[in-house]
Amino acid sequence: DGRPADGTASSDASGAERWEGILVVVEQHDGEPRPVSWQLLGQARRMAARLPGCPVMALVMGHQVRHVAQQAIAYGADVVLLADHPALGVYRTQPYSDVTLHVIRTHRPEIVLIGATYTGRDLAGAIATRVPTGLTADCTMLDVEPPPSRLLQASRPAFSEKLMATILCKRHRPQMATARPGVFEALEPDPSRPGEIRELAVTLDESRVAARVVRIERQTRTVRLDEARVIVAGGRGLGGPHGFRLLGELAEALGGVVGASRPAVEAGWIGHEHQIGQTGQTVRPKLYVACGISGAVQHLVGMSGSEVIVAIDKDPQAPILQAADVAIVGDLYEVVPALIQEARAG
Ligand code: FAD
Repeated sequence: DGRPADGTASSDASGAERWEGILVVVEQHDGEPRPVSWQLLGQARRMAARLPGCPVMALVMGHQVRHVAQQAIAYGADVVLLADHPALGVYRTQPYSDVTLHVIRTHRPEIVLIGATYTGRDLAGAIATRVPTGLTADCTMLDVEPPPSRLLQASRPAFSEKLMATILCKRHRPQMATARPGVFEALEPDPSRPGEIRELAVTLDESRVAARVVRIERQTRTVRLDEARVIVAGGRGLGGPHGFRLLGELAEALGGVVGASRPAVEAGWIGHEHQIGQTGQTVRPKLYVACGISGAVQHLVGMSGSEVIVAIDKDPQAPILQAADVAIVGDLYEVVPALIQEARAG
């Protein structure tokens, strides 16, 4: 509604008016939805099954994004709230949080889920302070207790990733969480799923929005590990940055991207945006090729959701070989060139 939050929506869980339903804030850029949105809708559906009669709602904000609303139904939303307006064409904190706050006040969802992406983290913080309610950020597990408590169980690594903390929001509503991309599975999209799109009347006064978008520069080389179908990852066993050039060739031949273990990143052989694991990204590609990565648990948690794992390690005792569907014991500098040749020929 564009007005600043004044707390009149009473975020108290014991409020007379009921808070009900799970709201997923869908993220899109230029009309391209981010997969984390569909992953969260899938998890919202699984949680809603524990809360009889609980609707799953999606909020789609942007400009000319009706097709995204349609997809949200196919991915599990019962109701899609569509805010389509030129002022929402590019993400900006203020108009996006104005709209989300309005939806929270009018639809009173008991749970709000947002992807822990750059924009999602920004939006979630802005909303939580304005509602006001608590926010569990960067979750890797989400579940809900059945009635009567209906409490969201939001879990995330804590204390330098040494333990998993489950955080409950007992007093305030909605219960809010951001969740990492890649940790939940999206449902198989069903275009024939019934659902309703409700268009929101957006009246944003551009003169009230402090941030102006002056120029947009696209970074074409940004790696999207969480969306990759094929990842070729390298570790300390590469022995230096030159190894990643070889892995880049294999990734290109397979139509994939390059990932890395933490030591490879810490050695400066490759950028941090490539790191996979507990303190990196969680990925679930169709194919994960691990080269010179031993398979420490902190690495495995980030990639064990991959559909097929191929591991190349010269040490037959390396744990990664146990976790792999195809285990190749050998020198990666002999095996990888052979794979590149095969991939290019095929
Ligand atoms: P190594 O364990 O040294 O393994 C190298 C492997 O390469 C060995 O198995 C070796 O046999 C093999 N090798 C060597 N040369 C060749 C060759 N020529 N051909 C084939 N194989 C070869 N790690 C992560 O990856 N991601 C994280 O997010 C992460 N977070 C962490 C968080 C915390 C709190 C802590 C304590 C640790 C974290 N770690 C993380 C580090 C993790 O514990 C391991 O140290 C790390 O994953 C090991 O990386 P690596 O497999 O590349 O190296």
